[in-house]
This record gives sequence, structure tokens and C-alpha cells, in this order.
Amino acid sequence: MSRPRIVVVGAGFGGVHTLRHLERRIPTGAADIALVAPHDYMLYSPLLPQVASGLLTPQSVAMSVHRLTRDTRLIPGHAVGVDTADRTVVVRRPTGELAPVPYDRLVLAPGGLTRGFDIPGLTEHAYGAKTLAEAVLLRDHVLAQLELANDSRDPVEREERCRFIVVGGGYTGVETAASLMRLTEEAARRYPELRSVIRWHLVDIAPKVLPELGDRLGRRALDMLRSMGIEVKLKVSVREVTADKVVLTDGRALPCRTLIWTAGVAPSPLMETLGKPTQRGRLEVDSDLRVPGLPEVFAVGDAAAVPNLSHPESPYCPPTAQYASRQAATAAENVCSSILGRPMREFRHRDMGLVVDLSGKDALARVLQFELTGLPALAVTRGYHVAAVPSAPARARIMANWAIRAATGGEVSRLGFADDGRPASFVANEDVHYLDTESAGREGARLRENLRERYGED
Ligand SMILES: Cc1cc2nc3c(=O)[nH]c(=O)nc-3n(C[C@H](O)[C@H](O)[C@H](O)COP(=O)(O)OP(=O)(O)OC[C@H]3O[C@@H](n4cnc5c(N)ncnc54)[C@H](O)[C@@H]3O)c2cc1C
Repeated sequence: MSRPRIVVVGAGFGGVHTLRHLERRIPTGAADIALVAPHDYMLYSPLLPQVASGLLTPQSVAMSVHRLTRDTRLIPGHAVGVDTADRTVVVRRPTGELAPVPYDRLVLAPGGLTRGFDIPGLTEHAYGAKTLAEAVLLRDHVLAQLELANDSRDPVEREERCRFIVVGGGYTGVETAASLMRLTEEAARRYPELRSVIRWHLVDIAPKVLPELGDRLGRRALDMLRSMGIEVKLKVSVREVTADKVVLTDGRALPCRTLIWTAGVAPSPLMETLGKPTQRGRLEVDSDLRVPGLPEVFAVGDAAAVPNLSHPESPYCPPTAQYASRQAATAAENVCSSILGRPMREFRHRDMGLVVDLSGKDALARVLQFELTGLPALAVTRGYHVAAVPSAPARARIMANWAIRAATGGEVSRLGFADDGRPASFVANEDVHYLDTESAGREGARLRENLRERYGED
């Protein structure tokens, strides 16, 4: 292979870290490295709740791929299918056209989408908290509810607008509820009449929140949320959502215009299109991160079911940034080894723990076997994020935002993104039309033939 074509799908933790490790290992120009991604930035999603609360600006968590990589070609669009026989990825560009991208090695890292369930009204009325646009819209929507409630004399409308329900007791739900609750607390200083009306609820079908923290710290998290004034309801889910009401599975009907859905992530539908075995939508890979039967295709991150060799008690690695980034290093090494005919390395990683920022001065951290709360946990949490952000300018922006907030307090004005009243629903995530591997083969062959006719090569 004179100049191998390496294609990476997805500009998240798995994809961008794979590219950075590849670039470190491969001399400049020795391979054609391409990234297929809908946006030209890597989102540092663990800090999204701080964007939703206005503590961080959206730019500080969106790191330019052009800065993070030096020898990578960006192909804008969604990978919608893979012709594994002809080694071609079919990409839907932002213009809607399809384009073929041939590869010698492929790394799939498209992450996941917010998973909706078959709950009446959920997709029409719920808000997601997984993308940058959703975080920005959510903040505007929450502030708009307070403004409108303050301007209304109708006690029913006030109650609906001042009740906020977050579904999901994992780190996304807990951090989103805590940080937005602080935002409404801060905004309510302007609306004294609303202070006694504002209500935050966190519901989860599971019997505990943050199970990843372990029993003792999980119970501490529950106590902290409750002492902040968040009503936590466990073993309960949502039965129905309307524009002004949420019905829970315990029969309670709560007047409410803001349901934030964080209960679960579904792997990208791209993984099912390959026609290979999946685990609840995650593409199964061997311990060297290759897809069984497809030695030139690798998969990492939330969309891959990677054997968890260091923790045999749980068969697959958890879908976290910590694992996606480490898998990326192994994937890059194995891509190079497979080109050079060297032996593959198995992926092994010991879980380092979890950090949870409850906003204000409250945080929880489990670092290896150590459990921390309060200021020490906050220091570890912030330190961890600063170290994990892969770009120096982004790191500087994040720390500057924290410092400005500490010195001057928060800004609670609305930016106008939610003015049309449309929920920032996560259904938009599913607009992409995916192709199974046979259809991808037909489309790929047709598109490559068109390119050969026009340019003499593809
Ligand atoms: C609010 C929140 C808080 C979190 N907090 C933590 C935390 O504290 N610690 C932790 O370890 N993890 C945390 N996570 C989880 C962590 O963000 C994910 O595990 C991690 O992002 C997974 O990395 P990934 O590369 O698989 O996917 P992602 O980082 O989601 O990246 C996927 C990329 O692929 C792109 N893409 C999607 N479909 C396609 C397609 N068809 N073609 C091309 N590109 C595509 C997406 O646009 C995106 O750029 C959090 C997640 C959220 C949402």
C-alpha cells in the first residue's frame, strides 16, 4: 500500500483522539487521513450542562478540528452507509448529495443519539441535552418560562411554566438538573413572586441515581440533590407528555411545560447498517477493536461494544469519554500495525472513576477507590476537565469563563434562540437516512463511476 487511505467517522472523543494518535505515528503526508463529520468541531460534552446554565460560552466547549489536527482532510457530512465489499463509505453532504469515500482502513466513532421511547408526546414536547444547539436552546427556553410566568396573572400558567422535570438519573440528568436549577435560582432574584413557585424534579425508573458512583456516594448524591431543593423521584418514569402537562407512571399529572429527556443514549444507527452483530445497537468488535470478519474496519466509543478485559464483571466497556479516548489510542496503534503487518494490541483500561459537578460549590468524585465530596471533589472535577480538554485555547477559555463568573456573578439574559417556541427536540438527530451495506454498495459503485467519468479517478 503506497499511501494508505485512512478514514475516521465522527469528530468526538473517539474520532478526534484516533486522528491525533495517527498523526503522531505517521510521518506527515505518508497516509491520506480523512475525517467524515457533520461539524468541524469536537464537542467536549461533559461540560455541556455548564453551557446550558450559561457558566460557559458555547465556543469554549466546541474545539476546532482544524486546530486539533494537522494532516487531516475534513469531509463534511454524515456517513450514511458502508460498502464493506468495495471498501467505500457513503457520505451525505450538508447539501443532501451523496459522495463516495474509499478507504483502506476505516475507524467508526459516530457516538450515540438521545434515545426516545415510545411515550406519547415525548418526541414532540421533550427537550434533549446532548448537543450544543440543545444546550443553548434549553437555557433560553428555561429563562423564557420565568419571564412569561412573571408576566402572567394566571396561577395555572405560572405553575406550568415554573415546573421543570428532568428525566434520567445518570451524570447528564443530574448535572443538567443541578446547573439549570442554579440558573433559575439566580434568575428568580429578579422575580421575587416566582421564588415559591419554581419547582425542579428529577425522575428515574432506576432505584438510585448515579449508580456508577457506588452505593455510598450515590446516596450522598441523592441527599445533596434533595438539599438543593430538587425533588427526586425514583422507580418512576413518564407515561405521557403534552404541551402543558407530564403524566408520571405513578399516576401523578404535573402541570409542566419543560420536560428534559436524558434517559439513555442509543448508538448511531450507522452501526446497524454494516449487517454485523451488535449489542443493543453497539457494533461488536474484538479486543483489538476490529470488527470480526472485517479486518480493515475498527470501531471505538459509545457506538462500539468493546470487550472490557480489565473488568470482566461487566462484559463491555461503559459508554464514557474516558473509555472512548483510551480506545482511540489503541485503534490508532492497531491501524498502523495492520498496515505494517505487525501484531495487534488488545484494548485494556482500568476505570479511573467518575466526577460529577452539581454546580455552585457542590461536586462528587470517585477517583479509583477514593470518594470525595464538596470543595475537594470540585477541585478534582474541574482539574480533570481542564486536563482532559485537548486544546490549549479551549482550556484557557474555560478557565477564563469560570474566573469571570466567580468574580462577577452570572449573566441571566436570554439570547433569543427559543423565540419561535419550538422545542429543541432530539428527534432532529434522527433525520439522517441510513443505507444498509448492500444499498451503500450500489450507491457507492454508481457514485464512484460518475467520478471516474468526470475526473478519470475517484
Ligand atoms: C451532558 C453529558 C455529560 C457527560 N459527562 C461525562 C463525564 O463526565 N465523563 C465521561 O467520561 N463521559 C461523559 N459523557 C459521555 C461522553 O461524552 C461520551 O461517552 C463520549 O462523547 C463518547 O465519545 P464518542 O467519540 O463515542 O462519541 P461523541 O463524542 O458523541 O462523538 C461522535 C461524533 O460523531 C459525529 N457523528 C454522528 N453520526 C455521524 C455520522 N453518521 N457520520 C459522521 N459523523 C457522525 C457526531 O457529530 C460527533 O461529532 C457525557 C455526555 C453528555 C452528553
